[in-house]
Amino acid sequence: MKILQKGFNYSQDGPGNRLVYHLQGCNFACKWCSNADSIPLNNPNAKEVSVSDLFNEILRSRMMFFDGGRVTFTGGEATLQSDELLELLVMLKKERINTCVETNGTSPRFDEFCELVDYLIVDMKHYDNELHIKWVGKPIDSVRKNIESAFSSGRQIHIRIPVINGVNVNPEAFVEYFSRFNTSNAVFEFLAYHEYGKDKWQGKYQIENGFVSDEIIRKFHTVFRGNGLETIST
Ligand code: SF4
Repeated sequence: MKILQKGFNYSQDGPGNRLVYHLQGCNFACKWCSNADSIPLNNPNAKEVSVSDLFNEILRSRMMFFDGGRVTFTGGEATLQSDELLELLVMLKKERINTCVETNGTSPRFDEFCELVDYLIVDMKHYDNELHIKWVGKPIDSVRKNIESAFSSGRQIHIRIPVINGVNVNPEAFVEYFSRFNTSNAVFEFLAYHEYGKDKWQGKYQIENGFVSDEIIRKFHTVFRGNGLETIST
């Protein structure tokens, strides 16, 4: 598997203290991506690791999995390495190691991941197809299909929305979409725009004035909760 970064964080990418792997390669090109070096499928800075080596590394890290934490796979887009990641998830399930996958929701094997993953985070960047194409470079249909599949199955799903001025500051439009479904097992999180990864773009960064106020984030919470959608902050 191609791994760009790894490290522990607490409760940002799933519950508890988690060992987080950033897998190389993404099929989106979000104009605000804070990890732009994770987008190419090949990157000389990414490390090739076999599934069994990764599995053993995770087992050796067990003592660090406190407060319900275990292991998270994110990206880039983790599901692009689906054969290897699904194989690893099967091995971890046998060991009762709790897993989290954060995904942009496009995988054609989404349902297979749902079967194996304990905690699923799906990023939803926009509510409108044309604007989704404009800002991330791909249509929204596969994301919607997979999110709707999770809603209808009733499985746990954590939906993350990056909130970016000039891009998607319209909580009512998101709610209009989500309210069509049974979201009783879903939680929604709003991530205020930041520019931590801007320097990785080497002059090609394409967002201007993307910051949003605390008031905007509060409005997202208010509008979602007012329509019966559970929101969280991590
Ligand atoms: S889906 Fe994530 S990793 Fe991929 S381009 Fe968008 S922000 Fe970057």
